[in-house]
Amino acid sequence: MPLPGIQFVFPLIRPQRYVTHYYAKQALNYTIQNECDFNWTHTQNILLYQPTVNYIKNIVNSQPIADDFYEKYSKFVDKFGARPSGSSTLERAIDHMVDLTFQSGLNDVWTESVKVPHWQRGYESLTMILPRTRNMTILGLGPSVPTPTAGIVAEVVVVNSFTELETIAHTVPGKIVLFNAHFTSYQETVKYRQYCAIAAAKHGAIAVLVRSITPFSLYTPHTGSLYYEEGIRKIPAAAVTLEDADFLQRVYNRRKKVVVKLKMFNDLSLKESRNVIIDVKGQENPDNIVIVSGHIDSWDVGKGAIDDGGGMMISWFVPVILNHLSLWPKRTIRSILWTAEEPGYIGAASYLQRHSNELDKIDFIMESDAGTFEPLGLEVVGSPDVRCLIAKVLKLFAPMDAIKNVNITGSDIELFLNLGIPGASLLNQNDQYFWFHHTQADTLTVQNKTNVVKCAAFWAAVTYVIADLPFDIPP
Ligand SMILES: [Zn+2]
Repeated sequence: MPLPGIQFVFPLIRPQRYVTHYYAKQALNYTIQNECDFNWTHTQNILLYQPTVNYIKNIVNSQPIADDFYEKYSKFVDKFGARPSGSSTLERAIDHMVDLTFQSGLNDVWTESVKVPHWQRGYESLTMILPRTRNMTILGLGPSVPTPTAGIVAEVVVVNSFTELETIAHTVPGKIVLFNAHFTSYQETVKYRQYCAIAAAKHGAIAVLVRSITPFSLYTPHTGSLYYEEGIRKIPAAAVTLEDADFLQRVYNRRKKVVVKLKMFNDLSLKESRNVIIDVKGQENPDNIVIVSGHIDSWDVGKGAIDDGGGMMISWFVPVILNHLSLWPKRTIRSILWTAEEPGYIGAASYLQRHSNELDKIDFIMESDAGTFEPLGLEVVGSPDVRCLIAKVLKLFAPMDAIKNVNITGSDIELFLNLGIPGASLLNQNDQYFWFHHTQADTLTVQNKTNVVKCAAFWAAVTYVIADLPFDIPP
């Protein structure tokens, strides 16, 4: 059962996700921005970083640094595996990263406590009863409420969209709704996972199923977070595989009565967790901060290797390698390992509250949370001047100089970008990222050492240049 207080955790985040903000008006196309109008002197100053960029990239990509970095990453994933929010495994993983930071020669590291939800998955099953018996693999969505002990037996209605649900709303009371929305983009399709329970319960459904948010499946269900809304009944919610979503759709289309039995047991409580913060103080403007980040928690399935073990580890590595190379930039580089991203940016929201009086000191914020495959460049949110600046900086990294201009990016950093702070995410060849995302298949096997190390080198060098620029980063 939810503890009193848990309601404050989720609604804190929800309104932020779809905020239309200033940058939505900007160009949204994926462009390789070769030319743009930028201050000539500044451009010349950026070009001076070429030798430093080459130096960082060469060092990180060569032995023994590359081997040592990848060994730290793979050891972390093998030692801790899944690190769900509120779990003791996550807290041990956090301690491990703090220790590793001290061992790497950095002393400016601390943690900040955060109250986080701890949703524990228990037994889950979905069995078709009519028109024939068939067991299906599911993954409950966190923090779904459980079913009664005996389970829920009900007829299934299948819809492809929220709009279609509205058209058959009168048939929904007492039934289980399956949202069978095909994957277009993550941002577009994930709303079915996030809002399925609210939408279905509004019309009287007693449970809800959702087609896994992925374009590809080897019979792998994908978990993820969902929202409930005050005043609307909380109903159990689970993801089915693409294969079963298609199967149920076909049977339903033949006007066959589909009846299933859904059982889901789980438990929700509040726990303490921590964000990890590592600073390399700026040499000239220590009050100005460039943040580089990834989240250390993961879902309870898989090993959290790609989501977000890789992104967290390359972000941790930025201050470590720069300090090792005695490259201390003008601004402070702050590496943050966010806790409890998966239940809804809880660690990032806590940081925002705690540091609300110093947000104007964040010059730029970065996050890697969409894979550490072959690095391509950056996904950038900011004013035209910021985008142009980043385009010039990225020229130092050709051919990794692609810019994807977006109105929102990252996960945790969305909260900061929505406030108008400029930022970027790692753009990488992540076409297959959502094949593995939030599944048992999120393991180290998906990763390629050369690419992860290339990401680490790129991430460290690009953060260094941005943090060391000898002129103000435009707002
Ligand atoms: Zn993630």
